[in-house]
Amino acid sequence: MSHSTVAILGGGPIGLEALVACKAQGIDAVLDERNEIGFNLKKWQHVRLFSPFQLNHSKTGAKLLGESGIAVPSDEELLTGREYLKNYLEPLAQLPAIKNCIQSKTEVIHIARERLLKGELIGSATRTESRFRLHLTHNNQPNISTADYVLDCTGTFGNHNWLGSGGIPCLGEKEFSDRIDYGLPEVLGADKERHIGKTTLVIGTGYSAATNIVALAKLIKEEPATQVYWLTRHDRELPLQPIPNDTLLEREQLTNQANHLAISKQSGVAMIRNSVVESISQPDDTSGKLNVQVRVGSEAGNSQDFIVDRIIANVGFRPDRSIYEELQVHECYATHGPMKLAATLMGETSADCLAQTSHGVAALKSPEPNFYILGSKSYGRSSRFLIKIGLEQVEEVVNDIATSCSTR
Ligand SMILES: Cc1cc2nc3c(=O)[nH]c(=O)nc-3n(C[C@H](O)[C@H](O)[C@H](O)COP(=O)(O)OP(=O)(O)OC[C@H]3O[C@@H](n4cnc5c(N)ncnc54)[C@H](O)[C@@H]3O)c2cc1C
Repeated sequence: MSHSTVAILGGGPIGLEALVACKAQGIDAVLDERNEIGFNLKKWQHVRLFSPFQLNHSKTGAKLLGESGIAVPSDEELLTGREYLKNYLEPLAQLPAIKNCIQSKTEVIHIARERLLKGELIGSATRTESRFRLHLTHNNQPNISTADYVLDCTGTFGNHNWLGSGGIPCLGEKEFSDRIDYGLPEVLGADKERHIGKTTLVIGTGYSAATNIVALAKLIKEEPATQVYWLTRHDRELPLQPIPNDTLLEREQLTNQANHLAISKQSGVAMIRNSVVESISQPDDTSGKLNVQVRVGSEAGNSQDFIVDRIIANVGFRPDRSIYEELQVHECYATHGPMKLAATLMGETSADCLAQTSHGVAALKSPEPNFYILGSKSYGRSSRFLIKIGLEQVEEVVNDIATSCSTR
């Protein structure tokens, strides 16, 4: 059984930056990543980030790379996910002092307090007298470690929402999951054959749906037999709501392009507005296609069938809370993010997620002392998280840990 002062769960941008921050403060820390560094990012690495590089890295990370003679991208660069990984996250993770603290292929399954139940010492600081006990699998072999602090940076991207009415799976959704993507397939690259000359149904009205629609529209131009349906829950003519005077050019362009495709009669993108998928089934033939039954409007009897090859469901993600269910984490009943932060976020009114700043350590604290949820998981089901917020969270929490370690 191994012990570290801080256990960092998840090696996305925020987990890695948390490790870098701990090392810079001389705090003993270990990062457990179930796959490899940046694993979730790799699933959308062909997409260009809309935030410039200066918002996506810590000063400490850039300094460490600079000291090792590795040049980092310039502040204004808009990198693809792939470039962000290759030119920043992976070189950072390879620095010897960092690499030695990363355990790849290590999945965290459960966390508890040693010999202390969830219902004991409720909200009491004395819970810290029992260390955190982590059950892991390393290369599929069971393992146990302990820690004084836990930073859960496991993100949400591995845990999608369901596309059915009210957020539960529609009939057939699980059965035909092999033909449903919940993220961003590389429509113009590795996954092109699945979509060119075929019929794709895209569901959702966020930036991921917009990215997929813009890519699919390019396939229609290349091969006019390609068909695209875009299903939205709302009746709005423009699926995405533009942010007034958007300071992020990439985001503004994406919004405008997708909205234009939705209203243009020539784009080839067929809109199905104000609708929800009722069921997915297979027609009685050998075509391998899917029959998607859609309820249009609120009338129960008003349904239409669409025959498609694939579905892209951009319906969001949710945190996996199973790993910490034996801890005293106070969660928001609407977002499943940590309660204090969720309450603060609900009070924000700006449509632009860039306008946010972190809300300090107090907002990240839960009744379970020394347990923090950071990064995109701290926003629960909300999609407004930005790397810049995670970097601020890391700095605040790691400074707080350094202070308590030094006064012990
Ligand atoms: C298409 C897309 C574009 C985006 N563009 C931007 C942008 O331009 N700017 C911006 O600021 N943000 C952007 N974001 C939002 C956000 O910043 C990213 O999703 C970012 O990757 C979140 O970082 P993270 O470290 O919190 O989580 P993740 O990157 O999701 O990393 C979580 C890690 O935890 C690991 N993990 C999960 N469960 C376990 C477990 N039980 N045990 C061990 N490891 C585990 C995963 O394998 C993964 O490596 C974008 C998101 C998407 C999807």
